[in-house]
This record gives sequence, C-alpha cells and structure tokens, in this order.
Amino acid sequence: MLPAFFDSIVELITKTSTDLPPDVRAAMAHALTSEEPGTRAGQALTIIAQNIDQAESCESPICQDTGMPTFEVHVPVGANQIWMRAKIREAVAEATKRGKLRPNSVDSITGQNSGNNLGPGTPIIHFDQWEQDDIEVRLILKGGGCENTNAQYALPTDLDHLGRADRSLEGVRKAVLHAVWKAQGKGCSPGAVGVCVGGDRTSGYLHAKEQLFRTLHDTNPDARLGQLEASIMGEANQLTVGPMGFGGKTSLIGCKIGALNRLPASFFVSVAYDCWAFRRLGVRLDASTGAITSWMYRDAEKSMPMLAPEVMAAGFPRTGREIALQAPITEDQVRGLKVGDVVLISGRMYTGRDAVHAHLMKHAPEVDLNGAVLYHCGPVVAKNGPASRGAESEWSVTAAGPTTSIREEPYQADIIRKFGVRVVIGKGGMGPRTLAGLEESGAVYLNAIGGAAQFYARCIERVEGVSHLEFGTPEAMWHLEVRDFPAIVTMDAHGNSLHKDVEDASGKVLASLRPA
Ligand code: SF4
Repeated sequence: MLPAFFDSIVELITKTSTDLPPDVRAAMAHALTSEEPGTRAGQALTIIAQNIDQAESCESPICQDTGMPTFEVHVPVGANQIWMRAKIREAVAEATKRGKLRPNSVDSITGQNSGNNLGPGTPIIHFDQWEQDDIEVRLILKGGGCENTNAQYALPTDLDHLGRADRSLEGVRKAVLHAVWKAQGKGCSPGAVGVCVGGDRTSGYLHAKEQLFRTLHDTNPDARLGQLEASIMGEANQLTVGPMGFGGKTSLIGCKIGALNRLPASFFVSVAYDCWAFRRLGVRLDASTGAITSWMYRDAEKSMPMLAPEVMAAGFPRTGREIALQAPITEDQVRGLKVGDVVLISGRMYTGRDAVHAHLMKHAPEVDLNGAVLYHCGPVVAKNGPASRGAESEWSVTAAGPTTSIREEPYQADIIRKFGVRVVIGKGGMGPRTLAGLEESGAVYLNAIGGAAQFYARCIERVEGVSHLEFGTPEAMWHLEVRDFPAIVTMDAHGNSLHKDVEDASGKVLASLRPA
C-alpha cells in the first residue's frame, strides 16, 4: 500500500521544520530592510535572518520549539484514512528520532514526556475527502510561545486603550489589534495572525488556525475581509512593538481573516498568533504510490538565502559597545548593567524552564547557582553515542533558542534570592514581581532572540552535564559551556524594564489609531 507514503511524510516534516517558506522569507527580508542596522530591532532581525539560513543549510530545526504538528490531509474518496493516520504517526516518531522535531508531547496529568511526539491528541491530524485523484498533505508547526498568545474575544467587550468593541467589523478590527498589542514580543514578533469572525469557541479557533495555511500575499475572496486585513496590517505596524518586542517598525507580517456563521447570542473573534518562525508547507502525493509529485508554498529547488555570504560570515552584528561577561558573574558586574546594554556571555550556563523552576521551589539545586546564568530554554539535544571524554560529551545541542519567560514569573524572584542567580536569559520579558526581585537581589534579565535556535546552538561549545533528565530533554537542566552568547539587557537591577516601556508606548499608539 502506497510504498513511498511514509518517506514523503518524513520529508515534509523535515522541510517544514528546517526551511522557512518563501513568502515568510520575503516578509522577513522586507522587515530587515525596514529597520535601521545597529538598532535593537535591526540586530534582532539580522540574527533571525542568519538563523533561517543556518537552519536550511544544515537541515536542522529553525526553532527548538517545533510545536504541535498539525496535519490537514485531503484524500480521494475511498482512500484508507486509518492506514494513513498510522503512517503519519510513525513518520512523526521517526522525524523526532532524527532530531527534526523536539519531543513535545507531555502527559498533562503526570508531566511525563512521551519522547516521540505521540500521545493522546498528538499529533493533530484532520482528514477531508475531495473529488480529486491525488492526496494533499499540509503541515503547520506552531510552537508554545505563540500558541500561548492566541486570544478569543466575545463581543461586545471593553478593551484596554480601545474602548468598546461592538458586534461589527470595527469591533473585529479592535479585537485583532488588541491581540497583537497584548502579544508584545512574547510570541516572537513580528508574527502573523489567523483570525476567525464567528463560529463557536471551538470552531472559531480551528478556523483561525486554518487561515495560517493561506500565503501571506494572497487576496481574500471576501472584499470586506480583504479590506480589514489591509487596514489591520497598516495599523499594527504603527504600534512600535517591533521585532521581539524591542520597539521598531515591524510588528506583524501577515493578517488573514475568515468568517463562520454564529449563533445569534454569540459573536466570537478568535485570533491564532504565529511567530516569525512561521513553519508551514505541503505536498501533493501520487495516490497510488504516495510519492511527492509537487510541493506547496515552496519550490522544490533550494531556498533563496536571506543574507549575502559576507554578512553571514560576519556573524553577530557588533557595534563595539558590547559588554563581555564571564560566568560566574558578580553582583557588582550585574548592578553596572542597564537596560539596552548588549552583553556577550561566556562560561557556564544552566538551562531551566517550567519543571526545573517548580522543582527548585522545593529542593536545593544539584549544582551551585551562586553567580550563575540561568537560561530559559528547552533545547533539542542529540545523543552522540558512546562518550569520548566522559559522560558529559555524550550529548550535543542541535537547537537552543530561548523559551517564553513569563511562565516562570511566580517562581523567578524566589529562585534568584534563594540561590544567588545573577543572570536570567529568556524571551518576552517578565513581570513586576521579577523586576522587584532583580533590584532586591542584584540580578538582570536578558532577552535573547526568540526562535534563533541554530544561531544560539553555535554559541554552545559543549554540554558539560545534565540534571533531571527524568523531566524529559526539553525540561532537564543542561550544563552548557558557551562562548560570546549575545543577549540584550531588557530588565535591570535598577527597576527598569524595556518590556514595560514598549508596552506603555505602544498602548498610547494603540489608543490613537483610527480606522482608515
Ligand atoms: S519562534 Fe518563538 S514563539 Fe515561535 S516556536 Fe520558536 S520560541 Fe516559540
């Protein structure tokens, strides 16, 4: 039965995870030319562009969070969907084994990671029949950071800075702009939004996500919605949220709106926010062999590079004002930093995300965190086979961008105070409790560039060890030796937060926007 089907799906997953589609590349290239080089936004976009090219050239994940694999499959009448579902699941497990997907499927009750991306509800596979002869499989990989910034509004409602959003297209406009503003840099902006007007709470979110299968430059068949898309794009890019929420000219690279009928009593606006690492591809398959006959959203040929070879070779775009820090780091060094400083960290760094933070609230760490750098990161890690230099060299990190830090807000200040952590690195910023904790204990928060998993993996010289592997590879505490790891101080030990400043400034712009 369809001898090439399994290999075709593995190929689809591999390309989706590692090679950004041309329409998204074009939008990011445009964003790069819009920002001034040497600004925070310009530096962030240059790192992102390098990362996109690096991922494609070594066929490694663009972002370490390879998200929830979601397949949309069209099959001819009579095709065996039970067999295809089983093969797609096998292909997901195989791609995970090859390091193209991070193990991301976690038992919601026990917290146990299945290790192969299989489990109840994972992956998501939707089938539809159609009256065509071939099979179409489309895939989107949407990570947790941007998934957490999805929003659903029940109109009418009152919105910060925008006032009342009524049951009208004007109300929809306000809801979508509010969602983009609220997301700030947490979903790794600049992002794209898929929107559904109407439906119920479930179908609304589903239809919103389906909009993300449209290309960024297509035209909405409904002229009213097309007009709304264009007007939201123009207004969202005046918001000054900017790349990674650092402030800047590009906050949104796409807005795609669909509509479903609704119950008279309900008026939902559902917003699916996807990050710049907008990974979606598709294939057409021969229905008798399962072989790929054509690609969707990309050419079969090699993708156009984002950067010229000399820019690529130059690496991180330095201005000469960068501050080099060697871990462990002292309180004096940290108190000397201020918001906006760009630092290059070398030495030991420990990863820690949700499970590690929850654990440290009740237990002492296995390592000395005094003066330490704690990196909010769930890397993709490969086992190299028998260790050549002791157990530590058994591992190598193949993708290692930051994860969304705000999830650790309930724990972070306590952990800094209890164990003497001096530097926390993540993305999207943290809240008032952490900001107060930084000032009290003498620590800083650094924002790394979200999604730049290949770029940061190249800053890791080796894996020196690991604690709590029982939490699964993304959640374990990895002991990393890094060199010149760049990040920006966005919350300092003097009570300043770039995230709060950008949120306040963009909120004022939001309040001033008027529909075209
Ligand atoms: S780019 Fe950012 S939001 Fe997107 S999957 Fe990666 S970490 Fe998550």
